[in-house]
Amino acid sequence: MGAQDAKEMAEIVKRRFSLWREVVQAGDFVRGSVTVLRRPCTYARCRLCREGKRHPATYLSLKEKGRTRLIYLPKGLVTQAKAWVAEWRRLEDLLRQMSKTNAEMLRLLARRQSRRGRRQA
Ligand SMILES: [Zn+2]
Repeated sequence: MGAQDAKEMAEIVKRRFSLWREVVQAGDFVRGSVTVLRRPCTYARCRLCREGKRHPATYLSLKEKGRTRLIYLPKGLVTQAKAWVAEWRRLEDLLRQMSKTNAEMLRLLARRQSRRGRRQA
């Protein structure tokens, strides 16, 4: 492995380690989004529904097997749910960065192996 490659490899290993450390230190997370829906209620004489205002409530919206699942969030849970959603997105981004770093590592390893192969040929 040339000096330049060795330097690049050392940088990749370092970057991968710091990404990995961030991943294992992540907090609770959930894949979904927090959304406010205005759903009708079951009361035939409800004024809010008659006026088209309906009943705004906050939900965690999840995709499960192509279907959307809604989990009602009481007011006291909205902040926590939003934090968990944000943490999932941060983790997703970290994993994407890690994947890119690993791809770079494979590129360097492949270059090293093909050089070796050429030398032996
Ligand atoms: Zn109503």
